[in-house]
Amino acid sequence: MVMGEVMKLSKIVSAFLFLIYSVVAMAQAPVSPPADHPDKTEQVEPFNVIDNIYFVGRYVQEGSYLVTGSEGHLLIDTGYDESVPIIVANIRKLGFNPDDIKYIIGAHAHSDHLDGHARMQEMTGASILSSAPDVEVTENGGATDFRPGNWRPSKVDRVVEDGEVISLGDASVTVHYTPGHTRGAVSFTMNAVEEGQNYNVILMGGVRIAARPVFGHPQYPNMASDFASTFEKLKKMPVDVYLGSHGYWYGLGEKMKRMKAGEGFRAFIDPEGYKRAIDGWQQQFIDQIVSEGMEMAN
Ligand SMILES: [Zn+2]
Repeated sequence: MVMGEVMKLSKIVSAFLFLIYSVVAMAQAPVSPPADHPDKTEQVEPFNVIDNIYFVGRYVQEGSYLVTGSEGHLLIDTGYDESVPIIVANIRKLGFNPDDIKYIIGAHAHSDHLDGHARMQEMTGASILSSAPDVEVTENGGATDFRPGNWRPSKVDRVVEDGEVISLGDASVTVHYTPGHTRGAVSFTMNAVEEGQNYNVILMGGVRIAARPVFGHPQYPNMASDFASTFEKLKKMPVDVYLGSHGYWYGLGEKMKRMKAGEGFRAFIDPEGYKRAIDGWQQQFIDQIVSEGMEMAN
């Protein structure tokens, strides 16, 4: 290409990027509180969120969830290795037997979601599940990840596919591949019943940008297109209750207070909050690719 054409192309790219930038409403992504915040330091009493879904995580910011069924339970996120005995004690406090955990799965392959897998398996005998793209890094402790990790490796017993339904007997959980934050990030949907009414529950697996820039990772060349399709997918989902691995994603601290003050499970019904959070993260993603695009065009 001659120089004039390159200039013309870069002008078109800039104009296009400005256009996307200006048509998207400015939404705010949820912001993580500082390290000394009680949400990151004060242990949480385990509690029932809704129907058969329980919060068993160590802190508001270190969510782990037990989904119970007549033929065994699913534990989503095992936290850090040292959190495992606390999670196990929380499960006992709620009246469940940790030996009845049939499956363990992390929302995505980062240390705060799966460092505890190996110890949890030792303590409960549960099988470790993973999305196909996160198997390799789960098993090598993150050594080959685009953002190298250093968690305790664990052996994946079974791969779950996109759209697969994990059956727990009288309950089930559907796995949705929602990549971007990691190559194999997943979200989970469940149907909850309270007082004869059905509620759509989603547990998000993480849609924040994990490593900047978004473009140019040899180990993850499709990050940007993955993010784009994940946002489209998440926006189409019918959601009444949204949960996630980190409490700040869905205002857990405040919802927990309202729950205890007498609202019960209703404190977690928040379809508007879900839309706002997804819009916020999508905005963050768009801002990032716009700035990377502007740099390329300049
Ligand atoms: Zn992460």
